[in-house]
Order: sequence, then structure tokens, then C-alpha cells
Amino acid sequence: MSTAVIGSPQVEVANPYAMAVEQLYNAANRLGLEEWLVQVLAKCERELTVHFPVRMDDGSVQVFTGYRVQHNLARGPAKGGIRYHPDTNMDEVRALAMWMTWKAAVVKIPYGGAKGGVVCDPKKLSLTELENLTRRYTTEISVLLGPEKDIPAPDVNTNPQVMAWIMDTYSMHLGYSVPGVVTGKPVEIGGSEGRAEATGRGVVYATIEAAKRLGISLHGARVVVQGFGNVGATAALLLAEEGARIIAVSDSQGAIYNQHGLNPGNLLYHKRKAGSVVGFPGAERISGEDLLGLECEVLIPAALENQITGRNAARIKARMVVEGANGPTSPQADRILYENGILVVPDILANAGGVTVSYFEWVQDNMKYFWKEAEINQRLQEIMMCAFGEVWQMAQKEKVDMRTAAYLLAVQRVANAVKLRGLYP
Ligand code: NAD
Repeated sequence: MSTAVIGSPQVEVANPYAMAVEQLYNAANRLGLEEWLVQVLAKCERELTVHFPVRMDDGSVQVFTGYRVQHNLARGPAKGGIRYHPDTNMDEVRALAMWMTWKAAVVKIPYGGAKGGVVCDPKKLSLTELENLTRRYTTEISVLLGPEKDIPAPDVNTNPQVMAWIMDTYSMHLGYSVPGVVTGKPVEIGGSEGRAEATGRGVVYATIEAAKRLGISLHGARVVVQGFGNVGATAALLLAEEGARIIAVSDSQGAIYNQHGLNPGNLLYHKRKAGSVVGFPGAERISGEDLLGLECEVLIPAALENQITGRNAARIKARMVVEGANGPTSPQADRILYENGILVVPDILANAGGVTVSYFEWVQDNMKYFWKEAEINQRLQEIMMCAFGEVWQMAQKEKVDMRTAAYLLAVQRVANAVKLRGLYP
């Protein structure tokens, strides 16, 4: 896939699946995994491509392409978000599915990894078209779905409403309500308190843990957020509550900066009204590349893959990079950041709050008994702190970066599960 880094004159071409496989090989070599296990883990177990027609508002019919990929099911049912984006493709979905497997293993949640995507630009679809597309896509991939089989969740450009349509479509096929088939639903139909903010909240817990280890106070710390969406905006709001100063943010339309700090609550209001963070009063417009190079304590990439690469990593001046997004840093950039003494809290740890509270939602749906938000946030914090501590210790012990450490733990856990279950037949 080719991902444009906003504001950059060139387009870097990188394949997220190749990147995910390289990350796996790096861990597998260190762990000395048997060759057959590496081969199993480097491939996705099930890959479904669907092409389906949708009736548009003007009466015409448009054919869309979608994917659902299950990477590995050794530790539990498949779990992973659904992305609506014009650039999504099979290799991106494969990479995201593989990252979900490792993520669930890092936080010791009993799921395997999956991901889905539909090639579309949701900004160009009406609400009715979006609903029709979602219901037909759900129907096409329903051979894989089920509360014990494969449980989708929100990702880029999908939200609780889309999850509600998925849950309703699946339930209509069965003739009764199956809330546990999807997470990230509205609370009214079996969603969990705290799920909407969970990924951003988890990013903040990871930032707090990292700051403690580096001896940085978050009070007054400068924070830069790339991608002011669900994850980025929540992280900004919660870090501001910790006393941090959000000095720059961006979205797909551009980036803005104010060294004295931007009020994330007002910014969210502005983005909802204006459709972008651009034009926020009192902020200066900067390029996306300049945003990544700002001097700050915390840089949170929370947009898409492949944003910090060999080409721009040397310009990063943050003390730590906390990956809200999946796959924002290339392996080459990882090496540069490590050499420059910049701590990277990897995606499979930093943004695991989403899958963790998705798991809580699924457990609540299955029990038909719901918890209060305070309880959910406290359980989330415990899991994030414990996982952070384990990854940190592994990094110290093996003298490796946090990503390698997280992979060593996760890949070993998944490999153990594959071996214990054995081969069938
Ligand atoms: P979202 O659609 O709510 O937000 C994405 C934001 O990124 C939008 O504001 C968009 O305008 C912006 N953006 C897109 N391209 C950009 C670019 N090139 N430069 C700057 N900004 C850009 O999506 P989200 O759910 O917040 O997901 C963001 C990232 O977090 C993705 O990588 C996703 O896979 C990951 N993630 C999300 C969750 C979740 O629970 N939603 C969980 C784990 C990981």
C-alpha cells in the first residue's frame, strides 16, 4: 500500500504485511522458534474477499470490495476492527489481523487476531448508503462471524452506529438478538461503558507508565497528536486532564500548532462543527512533517500506518512515541529511534486498551450483567500497568527496544498455544 505522509513531497511505498512479517521474524529468530511454527504464524489462517452490490440513493448500483481476515485462533475467537477507507487492501488487513493476535497476547486476553475492511470513502456516502453497505458486507462475511467465532469492533471510519447495524443484521439472520457478535456497540444495545474512550484511555495509561520510567512529569509535558480521531482526541483530552499541554494535532485535512497549548475539548467541538481541526482559532497551520518533528515530551501517532519511516525518523525530537495507531512506525524507523534514545511504546501494547474493553464488553454481553464505568476503567488500568511492566522488564532483561520485547512475550504465548493444541488431524 502507498501511504502519503501529509505535507511530504514524496510518497513512501511500504507494505504493512511485509512489515508485520519482518517484526515477527525478528522475534521468532530471537526466540529460536521452530521453522514450522514461524511458517504458521507468518500466514493468516483465513482470508475472505467479498464483492457486493449496494443500491445508492440515486437508484444506481455500486459494487464494493471488502475483506475479513483471521490471522490465528489458537488463543481464542477471532477479534478485530473493521475499517472503511479508500486505500484499504488485503495486505493492510492481513497486517492488522496479525497485529491483533499479538496485541491480545500482550495483554493476555483470550482472543485470536482478525481484521476487516471495505474499500470505500464513507465521507462520500449518505447515512442510508452507509447502512446498506454495512448490512450487505456483514451478510457477506457472516460465514465467519459469531460470538464464539469472530467478533468485529470499530476501527478507522467506523463507529458505534456501524457496530449496531452489524449486530442487528447478524441477529436478524438468526431470529434473536446476539449482542456478543460485535463490540463497540452503543450502550443501549449491550455496549460497555467506557468502550468508546478505551483505546485513548489505554494510550494514556501507557504514557503515564512510560513517563514514570523516564522520570518525566506529565504536568506541563508537551504532547503532539497525529490524527485527532477517536483514539487521538480521547488521548489528548485525558492527557490534558493530567496537566499535559497539547501543543499540536492533525487530521487528514492538515496540522495545527500552538506552543502554549490547545484546549482539546474546544478543539473537538470545532472539529465536529468544521469537519477538521484546521481553522481552530489561535492556532498556527503547520505541515504534517513539521508536526512530527516538533520538540515535545510525548508524540502520539494516532492516524494510520507507516507515518514514521526511515525518511523522517531522524527528525523526531520527542522523548517518547506512544503508538495509538496500528503500525505507524517502520522497522527502519524503529532502529533510528532506538539509537537516538527515543522510547517507543509499541502499538500492540499502547493501543491494547480497545481490545481489552472490547473483551469486557463481550464478557458482559455473555453474562448479561453489566459493570459500572469506574470498575471498567480500573480493570483496564490494572491490565495496562501489568502488561507495560512485563514488556518493560523484558526489554531491560534482553537489552532490546519495547517493540521487540512485546513481540518476544506475545509471539511466545501464541506459539505455546499453537504447540499445546497440536496439529489436527
Ligand atoms: P478515526 O477514524 O476515529 O480517526 C483517525 C484520524 O486520523 C482522523 O481524524 C483522520 O482525519 C486522521 N488522519 C487520517 N490520515 C491522516 C494523516 N495522514 N495525517 C494525520 N491525520 C490523519 O480512527 P481511530 O479509531 O481513532 O483509529 C486511529 C488509529 O488507531 C488506527 O491506526 C487504528 O487502527 C488504531 N486503533 C483504533 C482502535 C479503536 O478502538 N478505535 C483500537 C486500536 C487501534
